[in-house]
Amino acid sequence: MIYFDKVSKTYLNDTKALDSVSFTIKPKEFVSIVGHSGAGKTTLIKMILGEEKPTNGAVYFESVNIGGLRKNEMTDYRRRVGTVFQDFRLLPNLTVYENIAFAMEACGRTDEEISADVPHVLGLVDLTKKMMNFPHQLSGGEKQRVAIARAIVNQPDIIIADEPTGNLDPVSTYDIIQILKKINDLGTTVILTTHNKGVVDSIGKRVITMEGGKVARDDKDGKFAI
Ligand code: ADP
Repeated sequence: MIYFDKVSKTYLNDTKALDSVSFTIKPKEFVSIVGHSGAGKTTLIKMILGEEKPTNGAVYFESVNIGGLRKNEMTDYRRRVGTVFQDFRLLPNLTVYENIAFAMEACGRTDEEISADVPHVLGLVDLTKKMMNFPHQLSGGEKQRVAIARAIVNQPDIIIADEPTGNLDPVSTYDIIQILKKINDLGTTVILTTHNKGVVDSIGKRVITMEGGKVARDDKDGKFAI
């Protein structure tokens, strides 16, 4: 569970990015966060990742205050959160297989686990055939599928997908959303930020709409309303 308790964030230049934001995300939910540029979506995601601390209020993961974690506790916590970004962030000199294996090695997983789990997650994103390709040999949609496979391979509790379809054509966008829905059906919490009205409407799950640093709407079976 993630719990935002009256979270405000004022940056050093006096910009109020979040203004007393409160909501709860339960385990296994699929939540889309939408809003115009500057509404506070990135700041909100950074709070969940522990990259920014609230000026007031607190963000909790289960009963733990994320802003109060020490360095080694933060490393452990971040392993429970998988991330997917608009710009993919794959390592260009490693193959698809190696990109995912690398993420497993960083978490201290054994060679046996790596050789069993990498093909498994690549199967989930339907990329088994591209295992030995390098990122530059993949389409945008395929790169994002690798990034998703990498995000889930260490079995995180939460996946944060920050504008994952921002660089993709409509067909690849559809594929990525289907994969995120599948991962959610398998029991992982998914938090998605997007500008894409069609994406939000097709998911048909909870939508939090941010406006000027506040939660303007929180709809259970939401539609894109801005
Ligand atoms: P969004 O992701 O919805 O576009 P952000 O969270 O990036 O919104 O930004 C919210 C507000 O905070 C904006 O006015 C933005 O200019 C400001 N902001 C974001 N990051 C910083 C920062 N590091 N320093 C100062 N102001 C920032």
